[in-house]
Amino acid sequence: MYILAELEKIGAVFTDKHFVYASGKHGSAYINLDLLFPHTQMVAKLCADLAKPFAGEFDTVAAPATGGIVLSVLTANVSGTQGIWADKADGGFVFERAGFVEAVRGKRVLVVEDLLTTGGSVDKVCREVEKVGGTVVGVSVVCNRGGVTAEALSVPRLTALAEVRFSAYDPGECIACQQQQPIVEDMGHGDDYKAEHPDYAGGYERLQAV
Ligand SMILES: [Zn+2]
Repeated sequence: MYILAELEKIGAVFTDKHFVYASGKHGSAYINLDLLFPHTQMVAKLCADLAKPFAGEFDTVAAPATGGIVLSVLTANVSGTQGIWADKADGGFVFERAGFVEAVRGKRVLVVEDLLTTGGSVDKVCREVEKVGGTVVGVSVVCNRGGVTAEALSVPRLTALAEVRFSAYDPGECIACQQQQPIVEDMGHGDDYKAEHPDYAGGYERLQAV
């Protein structure tokens, strides 16, 4: 779990705030891995660790755009393989760039991602790999904060550098809502919540500079 200490050091771990998660539930903690990307050498180190459990088992690394692009390329670089990504299209993810399908077809593919919450994007990329004739050997992620399993993704193996579980509550049972704590609107899905509940009595706050 060294990764959590590193993330805390760069201020990517937030606690005692009021967040809205992708599930629609509310909770007090959040990890924002975007804050990691400017720290290139740390990212490169993480990518070496993403590759390690699957060393020698893959020919190509794939990831969902856009957050996964950096991870895919650096993981491929450290393992001497090809690195590509799937672009978002029509509610799914597609290998639409020249040469990308060829990098997957008939190849053993490792799928990487920064954060697993519901696993939706990774699941779509895995299915796209299979659709174009590649074999998913596994999924390697920086942080699994949704309790996502290999079974749920229909892949042989799932590894995470950190497993985190946040307590989450339905809005109707959220103590922070009852206490009218401001909701964070610029991380997680607070902006969606704001659009639906513009009159929330506790108001909204931003944690990042604009
Ligand atoms: Zn709440």
